[in-house]
Amino acid sequence: MRIGNGYDIHHLVAGRPPKLGGATIPCDKGLHGHSDGDVLCHAISDALLGASALGDIGMHFPPRDHRYLNADSLELLKQVMEKLRKKRYKVVNVDSIVICEQPKLTPHFAVMRTNLSKAMGIELDQVSVKAKTSEGIGELGRGDAMAAYAVALIDLA
Ligand SMILES: [Zn+2]
Repeated sequence: MRIGNGYDIHHLVAGRPPKLGGATIPCDKGLHGHSDGDVLCHAISDALLGASALGDIGMHFPPRDHRYLNADSLELLKQVMEKLRKKRYKVVNVDSIVICEQPKLTPHFAVMRTNLSKAMGIELDQVSVKAKTSEGIGELGRGDAMAAYAVALIDLA
């Protein structure tokens, strides 16, 4: 078995609702980024690439590449899974934390977990999503940014 971790942070900007784990969250501030800015998908993708020692998402999906402008990060996660399958890896489980001052993410966990498990081709109980606030500390606490951490365990299929 092999383990990997992933981390991502994006600025929050007015005018587009955030996408997290492929779910559009009703909120007046959204995630800035070249892609759809889905920090959770990005952290999980990096954890999977880390576990398989295949690099990171910046290397596979360069932000300067116009193909990834407004890219659907769930699709990028599917492409990461294809790279793992080529190495004959399967996902054992994924755990994640989104650091977000507001809105409350708990009502969206079910949709996020469903989207993520489908994108990775695994069962719902193999994906965990949690949320934490930053207790008002720093840029995350001020609501200027949103971050996510993820760990992934993989095994040979
Ligand atoms: Zn990102």
